[in-house]
This record gives sequence, structure tokens and C-alpha cells, in this order.
Amino acid sequence: MKKIGLLGGMSWESTLEYYRLINRGIAERLGGTHSAECLLYSVDFALIEELQERGAWEELTALMISHARTLEKGGAECLLICTNTMHLMAGEVQDALGIPLLHIGDVTGEAVKGTGLERVGLLGTRHTMERDFYRLRIAQKFGVEVLIPEEEERALVHRVIYGELVRGIFTDQSRASFLRIIEALGDRGAGGIILGCTEIPLLVRPGDSALPLFNTMEIHARAAVDWALGE
Ligand code: GLU
Repeated sequence: MKKIGLLGGMSWESTLEYYRLINRGIAERLGGTHSAECLLYSVDFALIEELQERGAWEELTALMISHARTLEKGGAECLLICTNTMHLMAGEVQDALGIPLLHIGDVTGEAVKGTGLERVGLLGTRHTMERDFYRLRIAQKFGVEVLIPEEEERALVHRVIYGELVRGIFTDQSRASFLRIIEALGDRGAGGIILGCTEIPLLVRPGDSALPLFNTMEIHARAAVDWALGE
């Protein structure tokens, strides 16, 4: 089994779930008391959020590279950045490492493509929904059209992620708002929805929507298990 490096804490609410899913996945495949060999670097998210808000992306890139190198030096044989948003600098992080970075957008794009869907909706932070690094990558690499919510809806999703989900607050009201936004994306032709923020699956569960939901955290964690077992 190879060692998985997790760059997490963005937020720790979802990193906890990554850790659980990866260990569960290894136990299911290998049986008995098997569990994952992994290293975790968990950041103070307040600093990350502040730098994001200031648009200090160069500083954030340097931070991500430094933490990723710490994991590599510690013996990690691959890297997972446990957030969609912070894949904005995935290219720079990969270039600074000698170990592979398992890209959350790529494994998600592959999962969507595998279902045969040609058009899906995307929920995530403003950065993930509005900038090119995520939706364009999925569109270009996997030939899947990615729709995003309307401006007001994007503002709501972003506000709920930072104001509630990363703080461990999950309310029926926000769930209902997200489901309305998902339904509207469905009306516009989305055949499924990418939950492109690792905390959204903690709010919206598979049975909550009639549309297939792509849980990026779960897909990413499963890819790590496959990779660690060399499958
Ligand atoms: N976990 C979130 C994501 O998947 C948002 C937190 C962050 O800004 O990294 O995008």
C-alpha cells in the first residue's frame, strides 16, 4: 500500500470525512483491521480564508507548495488537496513536487463522463464556479458542459459555504435553498450536479435531489484508495 498525503483543513469539517472515507475504503478492499497509510497537513483555515478574500493568490500558492513539500518530505507518495477551490494553484503545486497530485476536477470529470451525462451543473465557492481552472478543465478534458447558477444564487452558495458549512453549521433552510438552486439548474438542462465544494455533501445528501449528485469529496477519496492500492 502506498502512502497518501492529505493537504487538508480547508475546512477540517470535510477533511475529517476524507480521513474516514479513505480508511473505510482501505478496510473494505483489504478486510480485517487494514487502514490507510497516510499523512495529513491540516492548515488554520482562517488564514486561508483571509488570503482568499484579499485575493492574495500568490501567497496562497506559496503556502500550498510549502505544505505539500512538507508532506512529500514526510514520506507521502501522492498528494490530495482536500478542497476544490484550492485547486486553483494545482498546476504550480504539481510542478513543485516529485510525487503525483490527484486532481479533484479530473477524477470528478471522469466520474461524470462515466455516466454518459453531457451537461451538469456545478455548485461551489465563487472561485470554483466563476473562474476557469475548474469548469473549463472539466469541459475541455472530458467534453462535459458545466452550467453554473445565476449570480444571486452563486452569491448565496458562496455565503453559505463560508458563513455556515466550513464552521460546521448545517441548516434545513440552507439545504432547501441549495435544493432550489439544484432544481433550477436541472430546469436549464443539467442532468446531474457536481457538488464542487467538499462541505456541500455534508449538507445535501444523495436522496435529497432527483438529479444524480457528484460528491467530489467522496470521488476524490475513492481515487486515493484506488491509487494507494495500485488499482
Ligand atoms: N472546501 C471548499 C471547496 O471544496 C471551500 C473551502 C476553500 O476555500 O478551500 O472548495
